[in-house]
Amino acid sequence: NTAIVWFRRDLRLEDNPALAAALRQQAAIVAVYIHAPDEEAPWQPGAASCWWLHHSLQALRLALRERGVELQLRCGDSAEQLAALVRQCGADAVYFNRLYEPAIAARDRRVARELKALGCALHGFNASLFADPWEVETGQGTPYRVFTPYWRNLRARLKPRPGSAAPRRIAAVALDGNAALDDLKLLPAIRWDTGLHEAWLPGEAGAHEALADFCDAAVRDYAAKRDYPAQAATSRLSPYLHFGEISPQQIFWRLEELAQQRGQAFREMAEPFVRELGWREFSHHLMHHFPQTPKKNLNPQFDKFPWRDTDRAQLQAWQQGRSGIPIVDAGMRELWHTGWMHNRVRMVVASFLCKNLRQHWRHGARWFWDTLVDADLANNTQGWQWTAGTGADAAPYFRIFNPVSQGERFDADGSYVRRWVPELARQPFKSIHAPWKQPALLSQSGYPAPLVDLAESREAALAAYQQMKA
Ligand code: FAD
Repeated sequence: NTAIVWFRRDLRLEDNPALAAALRQQAAIVAVYIHAPDEEAPWQPGAASCWWLHHSLQALRLALRERGVELQLRCGDSAEQLAALVRQCGADAVYFNRLYEPAIAARDRRVARELKALGCALHGFNASLFADPWEVETGQGTPYRVFTPYWRNLRARLKPRPGSAAPRRIAAVALDGNAALDDLKLLPAIRWDTGLHEAWLPGEAGAHEALADFCDAAVRDYAAKRDYPAQAATSRLSPYLHFGEISPQQIFWRLEELAQQRGQAFREMAEPFVRELGWREFSHHLMHHFPQTPKKNLNPQFDKFPWRDTDRAQLQAWQQGRSGIPIVDAGMRELWHTGWMHNRVRMVVASFLCKNLRQHWRHGARWFWDTLVDADLANNTQGWQWTAGTGADAAPYFRIFNPVSQGERFDADGSYVRRWVPELARQPFKSIHAPWKQPALLSQSGYPAPLVDLAESREAALAAYQQMKA
């Protein structure tokens, strides 16, 4: 018997439930990746995600080839491509791991219907979350809107377990008609991606390297240092998790193995990190139950908020790291250069855009979508709605981050700002987060004056909030 394993964002061989299930059937395998970005509209992968995907597919293709399987690459309508493969190789089943974005879930339902009509079974698995988003519910059977009780419920169910090992050898079916990776046209025509190459190693091996590095050192001080952007204190596993090059269960199991060696104190130290994986689950829970949220405020009261959306020049200055607010510009330049930004700084740049500049969070979410290597519809939507105050369990709108005091607190010596905003390298320590206080130095540096006065724009935002409530 022959089975198709339909790879999507589960680009790994270890702990891959769809692959493991197909192999358990002792089937000869056809492994396929279908490039159909339009089926994800309006959230087709952005430019940085496409870069990552190219390299991740390359890594998966090599790993499969070493085991005797050629990854089939196809472009175009997923249902048609799978149907053609089923006819070509006589497969009686397709195995895949579930995704939860509304457009993809709808596409998968259509694919299931079309394959069923051909007499081919479709078997779906959960490979990317601790629990499917519909499994956790309140006592009343409703979705959660508040993180803490959600996490309490999910955390109590979590059990560390080892995943399936990567197969050594796979019986494969040879097929013609394979596309070349370059045919997917995932790499940018203008090579802006040097910084991404320097920062990342996409693929399953890169994921395990990042996890090992984190477990060797940073995990111990995660709770104390995770908010300091100049320190390498977080795992940087987000793009690997997004593309399914590693699963939360694998991470959880590795932490458990270490806890068994190092004792209960290690388990307790790792818990704040596990809780962040919980936020990722919560985001997926929200996206599943409130599928409109990537474009609409979860809290409809904000539909009447007087955004100042017409100022394209201000939006562009924010995007390009020229807002004149050092910590904001450092973050936006880190993002542009590496495809990633530290979580604390994501909150600060988002608050500045939505509150001080009063631009709709959707503009920020779109820019992140195109530039982040970890762009993820669930996490990005939740991150933006949380910061803008429009989401579930969100920061209240009136709590407006002051980017100067955030900088002084979390980048006290200014090293993060100095790294990403070299114009400010000569600013004295005391004014690195507010260089306008040294007008003579500022004018020599070539660094712009702030787009807005922080105190005035804060007052204006609060007034707009009152206007909405009235
Ligand atoms: P760690 O601190 O090591 O955390 C481990 C993992 O937990 C992360 O890899 C991530 O999968 C998950 N996680 C951590 N924090 C959060 C969080 N607040 N919400 C959901 N999951 C979390 N994360 C994305 O993966 N993709 C996005 O598109 C994204 N957009 C964001 C937009 C905004 C405005 C904000 C405020 C946050 C966003 N986040 C997003 C969440 C968070 O910033 C990143 O997950 C985190 O910075 C990734 O770095 P890390 O892997 O070192 O995280």
